[in-house]
Amino acid sequence: FGSELDGQVAIVTGASSGIGKATAKSLASRGASVVLAARREDELDDLAAQIEDGDGDALAVPTDITGDDDIDTLVERTTDEYGRIDILVNNAGLMPLTHIVDADRETLQTTIDVNLTGLVTLTHAVVPTMLEQESGHVVNLSSVVGRYLQANSTHYNAAKAGVKTFGDSLRLDVASEGIRVATIEPGAVSTELLEHIPDEEIKAGIEDHVGSMQALEPDDIARTITFVVTQPQHVDINEVLIRPTDQV
Ligand code: NDP
Repeated sequence: FGSELDGQVAIVTGASSGIGKATAKSLASRGASVVLAARREDELDDLAAQIEDGDGDALAVPTDITGDDDIDTLVERTTDEYGRIDILVNNAGLMPLTHIVDADRETLQTTIDVNLTGLVTLTHAVVPTMLEQESGHVVNLSSVVGRYLQANSTHYNAAKAGVKTFGDSLRLDVASEGIRVATIEPGAVSTELLEHIPDEEIKAGIEDHVGSMQALEPDDIARTITFVVTQPQHVDINEVLIRPTDQV
């Protein structure tokens, strides 16, 4: 285990799988205490045990990012345990792609709630602690679709574009207080994200598209996020668009 992040505390949402899980492991391997947030408690407990077995430090806090009480509990448990929050990786997300006409209201609402509203609400809950510390790093997972739109994805595209705009706006408000904000925009990454696409035809189309290239692995994004948060305090990497080499 390295030491660049020794003494730092990182909350990672969506830590039960994919990019969040890989990121939590990577930050822990550099010395950060990681707070693991997602709904699947067993997955979080397994990951916490793995990290602790490797001499890292982890705290699992089951969290539904759409619930205000869960968000408050996540922040309280983190500050009770560690007294600070240095890094917030807003990674929880889901991508239930459908054509707008076929989408039900619940799908539209959940997509915005998880990908955007949850991220905004948790950040709002964490920023006061970072302001007190006069330092902190917020890393938001947007997507390539925040820049290059995909079809059958009105709700997801809008949420991810919102994540980018929220991050850039947040920076205007808090950069002068020592808080950095980064937006990560991955292209295709091999994770569970496609499993929740309700429309079988759209799902098969995306799977074919992703299968036609060598997709990124969660570790590729984890390495990028780790690079972003290990820069010196005066360096704020605002935005990273990272795609498979053959995704053009
Ligand atoms: P996964 O499906 O593997 O991970 C999604 C994570 O989000 C899970 O840990 C899940 O945990 C969590 N999550 C979902 N809903 C909630 C909720 N209501 N409350 C708390 N946590 C929740 O996908 P990825 O790792 O690929 O996705 C991570 C992020 O990366 C997402 O924001 C996604 O949009 C973004 N992204 C992914 C790309 C890709 O190609 N994979 C490309 C561009 C961006 P649980 O179910 O336990 O709650």
